[in-house]
Amino acid sequence: MKTLILKAFEDGSAIKKGAEIIASGGLVAFPTETVYGLGANGLDPNAAKKIYAAKGRPSDNPLILHICRLSELSELAEEIPEAAIKLAQRFWPGPLTMIFKKKPIVPDAVTGGLDTVAVRMPDHPVAKELIMLSGCPIAAPSANISGRPSPVTAEHVAEDLEGKVDLILDGGKCSVGIESTIVDVTEDIPVILRPGHITLKDLEDVLGEVRIDPAVSGIMSDKDRCSPEETHEHGDAVPRAPGMKYTHYAPKGELLIISGSREKVRDYIKKSVSSLKERGVRTWVIASEETRSFYPEENVLVMGSLTDISSMEKELFKTLRYLDQENAEVIFSESFYTDENAMGLMNRMLKAAGHRIINADEEGEYKC
Ligand code: AMP
Ligand code: MG
Repeated sequence: MKTLILKAFEDGSAIKKGAEIIASGGLVAFPTETVYGLGANGLDPNAAKKIYAAKGRPSDNPLILHICRLSELSELAEEIPEAAIKLAQRFWPGPLTMIFKKKPIVPDAVTGGLDTVAVRMPDHPVAKELIMLSGCPIAAPSANISGRPSPVTAEHVAEDLEGKVDLILDGGKCSVGIESTIVDVTEDIPVILRPGHITLKDLEDVLGEVRIDPAVSGIMSDKDRCSPEETHEHGDAVPRAPGMKYTHYAPKGELLIISGSREKVRDYIKKSVSSLKERGVRTWVIASEETRSFYPEENVLVMGSLTDISSMEKELFKTLRYLDQENAEVIFSESFYTDENAMGLMNRMLKAAGHRIINADEEGEYKC
């Protein structure tokens, strides 16, 4: 298949062309404020199947339906709880996905056979117009090959999907950079199934009580205690967002997250890099603006500032893709778990690292 790539803001007919492709059952990659989505008609099971084929995505990992008006929600969701209305008023359009009991019109091919449906209203002019002109909800997972870092530019999409989709709409770099926060509103107390840019605190401010799924919180609260042997994604907790059970975002090299006190982390990384370099291993360090000067002689990628987690979220997937381009073999990243606001960022980083966390307060140097 020949993939057309069009500049969404410069080419006046690009979005209209995209909408025609979606309406006739094809695949269009498009920008949202979180990451690029791989879109198809969300009410057409055959179109949804094409998404799974292009991404190599397991068919039990359900898709999010993207809408552009609140009135469309009642066509997809059997019940709209009070909590959902409050969240929609506060965060839609925006990087929040909610899980509802589904109406029969939503195909099983979209929900992986679940009786619930995930819905989001994105906040990006290209996404909004594409959905409006298509005249249907757009099913769209991230526009990458399954397991690869999510795309935040049209170039990233092309790297993975050129030849597999009809059209890529280039709308520049995504402003948020990590996928939406997912909240299950079918429960009396809403549950966070995937952390993201909208934080626990943001949700609590609107709803009062909010829970975090144990499959997510189990990992996050283990931040300092995790031993390097703990490579299982979720321990005993069964993930309720089916996508959570799959490995994600992994760079080709071995990524390790180093936690502990700042000096110990610095010493651990410096010692480990120095002995690996002696053996000719291509090593990289992921650090923050505040800590970059610790590693004057190393290959350092700065993700952003520890005082502005959003700046790190924005750079994360670009950083992971860059490491592959550089054929990085071993990558040490400082842990950026400053507080609960860093949950979305660290959730992606831990997945990318296959949950290999090393506590530098307990171990002195990397042993492979
Ligand atoms: P992606 O679009 O690749 O960012 O992944 C979508 C995420 O939404 C995956 O983790 C899915 O498991 C999750 N998801 C989609 N639909 C549902 C649903 N009905 N119930 C729970 N999680 C869902
Ligand atoms: Mg994805």
